[in-house]
Amino acid sequence: MTMLQVSIVVPCFNESEVIRTFHKALITALEPTRQTFEICYVDDGSNDRTRGHLSDLARMDPRVRYTSFSRNFGKEAAMLAGLRMSRGDAVVLMDADLQHPPELVPRMLELHRHGYDQVIAQRDRAGENALRTALSLAYYRLVRRCMEVHVVDGAGDFRLLSRRAVNSVLSLPESNRFSKGIFSWIGFDTASFTYRNVQRAAGHSKWGGRNLLNYGIDGLLSFNSRPLRLAIHTGLCLFLSALVYALWIIMNVALNGVDAPGYTTLMTAVVALSGIQLATLGIIGEYVGRIYHEAKRRPHYVVRETNETRAAFPAGGPSSTTVAQARSEP
Ligand code: UDP
Ligand code: MG
Repeated sequence: MTMLQVSIVVPCFNESEVIRTFHKALITALEPTRQTFEICYVDDGSNDRTRGHLSDLARMDPRVRYTSFSRNFGKEAAMLAGLRMSRGDAVVLMDADLQHPPELVPRMLELHRHGYDQVIAQRDRAGENALRTALSLAYYRLVRRCMEVHVVDGAGDFRLLSRRAVNSVLSLPESNRFSKGIFSWIGFDTASFTYRNVQRAAGHSKWGGRNLLNYGIDGLLSFNSRPLRLAIHTGLCLFLSALVYALWIIMNVALNGVDAPGYTTLMTAVVALSGIQLATLGIIGEYVGRIYHEAKRRPHYVVRETNETRAAFPAGGPSSTTVAQARSEP
């Protein structure tokens, strides 16, 4: 039996305008490599015709598989579903909007053949809005200082992972997933090359200001506890300043006598205690936050249908809830 060599994982959310063009471009890039491949599309609860297009593509081409979510769960969940679906020896993650040029995939495969477990295609920031570039650069500077893992500007999700790298990514059970951090955390030999940034072929970006902000916060929080530790540091600073303040008041009392009895003790106790309380709250918050997230143990996504379930229930089919329950991941 020949081993499936390459899986391409493509998360798609409302990409009906571009998905067929993307598919054609991808096939054109992959066929000359003479490798066996599959394309795993994940429809992230699109509300346009994306799901219809994917099921048509799967019907026409046996190399196409797809999973469709019951609602929009976000790109992280879609990538996770794609990685779980993939069976290839190497897996390439890419966007559906042609911002990740399919013609770069053969080059990634070539580098993988040279023994690299991760191959990153890193984009430059050509043609990007100046404000977004400035904000991103500031964010990455902050991340480099705060995170325990190394995250590179421009090194996004367009990358190839070897089977053992995929297995390592899948072995991380956390619910709050931040792929950029996870890819860096798993390690392995990594090669990267830069390509010129391209604008999306059609449709529009789903990353508005608020989404980007939340993504950024997710990234900072899911890979370290330093923001919470800030509360502890603030508490300690307060405590120290309370000590200095207390000393100053005590000196004042010693030199000039008491002007309001009880005031000194009261102020010192209030300020010092609030400092300690804030520090303790920070410590407890750090633990509770972690326990809360992991204790829910919710699946990362709920599946509405896949090309396999669709083939199994052609006409009418079971209700989408049955399928969703049947296919939801543990
Ligand atoms: N995407 C997704 N779920 C989402 C948002 C985006 O699966 O909730 C997919 C989207 O279809 C595309 C990729 O993630 O294939 C990148 O999204 P987008 O182009 O909107 O992001 P940008 O390139 O602007 O960062
Ligand atoms: Mg894009």
